[in-house]
Amino acid sequence: MSSLPTGQSSNPIKHQNYRELPSAFFEDALPATSPAPTLIELNMALLKAEGIAPDWFESEAGLAAFAGTAEYDNSPIAMAYAAHQFGHWVPLLGDGRAHMLGQMLNANGDAIDVQLKGSGRTRFSRGGDGLATLGSVLREYMISEAMAGLGIPSTRSLAVIGTGGKVMREDVLPGAILVRTAQSHIRVGSFQYAATQGEEAVKALADFMIAHHFAELERSENKYAELLRVAIERQATLIAQWMLVGFIHGVMNTDNTSVVGETIDYGPCAFMDEFHPNKVFSSIDRNGRYAWDQQPNIAVWNLTQLASCLLPLLHADEATAGDIARSQLDTFAPAFRAAFNAGMAKKLGLDAKVGNDEITALAETTFGVMAESSIDFTVFFDVLTRVAAGESQADLIALFDDPAKAETWLAQWSKHKSDNPNVLKAMRLANPALIARNHRVEEAIEAATKHDDFAPFRRLCAALVNPYEVAAEDAELQAPPAPSERVTQTFCGT
Ligand code: AMP
Ligand code: MG
Repeated sequence: MSSLPTGQSSNPIKHQNYRELPSAFFEDALPATSPAPTLIELNMALLKAEGIAPDWFESEAGLAAFAGTAEYDNSPIAMAYAAHQFGHWVPLLGDGRAHMLGQMLNANGDAIDVQLKGSGRTRFSRGGDGLATLGSVLREYMISEAMAGLGIPSTRSLAVIGTGGKVMREDVLPGAILVRTAQSHIRVGSFQYAATQGEEAVKALADFMIAHHFAELERSENKYAELLRVAIERQATLIAQWMLVGFIHGVMNTDNTSVVGETIDYGPCAFMDEFHPNKVFSSIDRNGRYAWDQQPNIAVWNLTQLASCLLPLLHADEATAGDIARSQLDTFAPAFRAAFNAGMAKKLGLDAKVGNDEITALAETTFGVMAESSIDFTVFFDVLTRVAAGESQADLIALFDDPAKAETWLAQWSKHKSDNPNVLKAMRLANPALIARNHRVEEAIEAATKHDDFAPFRRLCAALVNPYEVAAEDAELQAPPAPSERVTQTFCGT
């Protein structure tokens, strides 16, 4: 083991709230012992933001807890859940390579889940080895932290542990563990699993969610209908936020849909470069099920599964319960549209007087011309922000495949744009200059895994903390890929 300080403070992960659930929801499970663990990265900014002291995390004791060599006072658990994966029903999935260490409290007293991913086999591993490759761990770290930098709800990456072990994939690759934090790890698939256990289990899980995450619903007349409503509202705004930055999740299965509305499970996800509404990156999504523009429909599909699990709690009368569920599900479309349009109005720097239908029409036209000219999603809105602030239109016009198309679009946009400095400020904050570009992510992974060089990974992470401003020396992180650098497919690379 590396020579780390012994650490002054004790382990802050003191709670294991999921033990309040019926025992069928989890199983005690010890992480595998890492052969030669090292702390590769610790997210100091995250600890600071949560008001949690870093010394235990930097100590031998912290590393031991993450590497499976500690004696745990509070046993880690693996959680059970079910799922629809690509539409196919799987009644028992669960944490096949993850261990929930428990919760720590932030400075506000909110409980934060701390989970290991890639920490060895559990009862739910099926044929899997329970491990994660260093590449997949770094990928999740960079993209989840990029999401956080963009202000989009997400699980966070607290640390990367090199296990010192090897993982067999297409090649023999270095193994790693991601220490992931979240408000909650309860997924739509957790409710689907509960439903397989009976109505009492569904009620227990719903009550757990309300007690820990939606205490304000406790006094509602129908708190379970309200739970469904809030879950729907959070997914609607989350998916709008993803789409507004060109993000494609890639595996929107029900086990990867968080009930509290955090982005969870960074597998073959990607921020797109050149825009196309049907863009898909995941090598396993052959039918475009989870394409950029399909994400709202899929979210409704997933939420419909949640609603159907909650039916027995919504009303004693089946038909009435069905009506309640449907009326809640019907709130998704307007909530999504409101969030998406509000976001588009900001991205385009529109005048406050521009009506909803005009925003919708201008957004459609904009995405139409972007697709036609294969314009880079991020560059388009970044350059537009600068044009709105008074810079020359030349760079924007150059993005179109025909200057005449640019003139037509600019004429339409000019009719609705605002010169109000507050609108321009909001426009800047709606249009990141920097995203976690696929080719930069891949480059950082390659340097780390092949050459043990973590500098590109750290540089990208540092730049993504403030994606609205790019330092001159990071200009190359901002640039779209050259044709030879283009990444057209992402692999689970798990
Ligand atoms: P995902 O597609 O990442 O959401 O994973 C789906 C399911 O497969 C989850 O139950 C994971 O715990 C499980 N899983 C993924 N990779 C592995 C692995 N290497 N070993 C065991 N289980 C795994
Ligand atoms: Mg998953």
